[in-house]
Amino acid sequence: MGTTSSTSRRSFAEKEPGAGAFVAGGNTLSALRWNPPGTRVKAIWTGRAEGDRRLESCSDPASNLASVPQRAWMRLRQVHGARVVVAGDALGAGDLQGGSCPDEGGAGRGAGDAIPIGDALVAAGVATGLVVATADCAPVALASREGIFAAVHAGWRGLLAGVVEEAVFAMRDLGAGEVVAGIGPCIHVECYGFGDRELSEVVARFGPGVAGRTAGGAVALDLVQTARAAVGAAGATMAYDAGVCTACDKSCFSHRARKELERQVMLVWGEGP
Ligand SMILES: [Zn+2]
Repeated sequence: MGTTSSTSRRSFAEKEPGAGAFVAGGNTLSALRWNPPGTRVKAIWTGRAEGDRRLESCSDPASNLASVPQRAWMRLRQVHGARVVVAGDALGAGDLQGGSCPDEGGAGRGAGDAIPIGDALVAAGVATGLVVATADCAPVALASREGIFAAVHAGWRGLLAGVVEEAVFAMRDLGAGEVVAGIGPCIHVECYGFGDRELSEVVARFGPGVAGRTAGGAVALDLVQTARAAVGAAGATMAYDAGVCTACDKSCFSHRARKELERQVMLVWGEGP
């Protein structure tokens, strides 16, 4: 993506074929999609229109989503850390059958199964799909031409802990070369008032570009820039930005803006060659 003339993330998203139809302030969301070219990986981000898909209240995070294939959807108990869980079927190269392995936390058939703790999932092949739930944290999809993919729950604490870098490293361990990233709806800088002390920690790690101001002029964190810096630090490339603020855009759930408990999800999966 060679566009450097504009800082508008919305225009960036509109250039992406297959981007969905979020409408700022509206309620007409249809899920955002990203098909990173040449990777056989697909990602989708839901919003309010698709309903509450958090772990506790949704046994099938892929239900009623057009053109999302049948997969064993794997999820995590997210804790804002940097732990990466690799799907069991990604570990044995070439062994991509859909066998269930509860001890690995893979191929769980529902929320009642043992759910591993972590904030990033990595997989390959067509058996397992990956799910991350968010309200204002950044849902980041990672993909490689080798068909290795990841789903990352990236809030500021997880980013400080290195969750994006750890996910990319885990992908490389499985044979990924070039890795591209896509970021879905998350809270944007104009809405993300932040403490001075916490901000200085994030700036120390990722540089002054992550500091900003809210619409009202208060100290703020630019979470998108933070994720972008983490992606860069891992040697990967941010190739897609949904350009949607979960706080501004009422077609998303927002914990911060509306104290909502509901969650949207990002699904990431691979398709056959
Ligand atoms: Zn906003």
